[in-house]
Amino acid sequence: MQYPINEIFYSLQGEANFAGLPSVFIRMQGCAVGCAFCDTKHTWELNPATQQSAQLVAGKISEHSDNWAYFSADEILYEIKKYSACRHIVFTGGEPAMYDLRSITEELHALGYTTQIETSGTEPLRLSDKTWVTLSPKIDMPGHKQILAENVARANEIKMPVGKMADIIKLKQLLAQYTINTQLIWLQPLSCKETPTKLCIEQALANNWRVSTQLHKFINIH
Ligand code: SF4
Repeated sequence: MQYPINEIFYSLQGEANFAGLPSVFIRMQGCAVGCAFCDTKHTWELNPATQQSAQLVAGKISEHSDNWAYFSADEILYEIKKYSACRHIVFTGGEPAMYDLRSITEELHALGYTTQIETSGTEPLRLSDKTWVTLSPKIDMPGHKQILAENVARANEIKMPVGKMADIIKLKQLLAQYTINTQLIWLQPLSCKETPTKLCIEQALANNWRVSTQLHKFINIH
């Protein structure tokens, strides 16, 4: 199995339940959801013209480059082991659920790591049963991808990007279809600006939800 990777880097998880935890991030290339607010648009296309060798992508922060490379599971593990203190691995993107991650996540758990996926919930999840699923719902986006019910049921937390009240309404419409512990729901302001942050705080207080600020933006790390 070969996985298309945009970047592999070591940093602090900035969002939701694991905020502050040292993590190796595996940013995968490819996403068909098409969110207008996406801050990783450089990961959308698997463009043969920007394919690189694994050696060129490994260990580098891509700084929004659309360069990517195929990595085997062994090559990913080799990169992870460079960060010997780290025990938490985050699969992000792009949309990492486009790829079958069951064997690599199971292998990571067998080696003593914890794993997490950040997903829009629009692709079937192929993961270790132990992988923490952060579902960030992307509703009515240009790619017309639907959130799968099985993924909402599997999610360990729901992290909703919020820019305006319409996003809260969409979240409530989604939640109305499921029974979800409200304390597993995070509102994440789309920017550090006052308006979305205030809206998230007000709505969290009103609904017993949580607020996820993007820690990495406040402390200025990748
Ligand atoms: S699902 Fe994520 S990576 Fe894909 S377009 Fe939306 S924000 Fe970007």
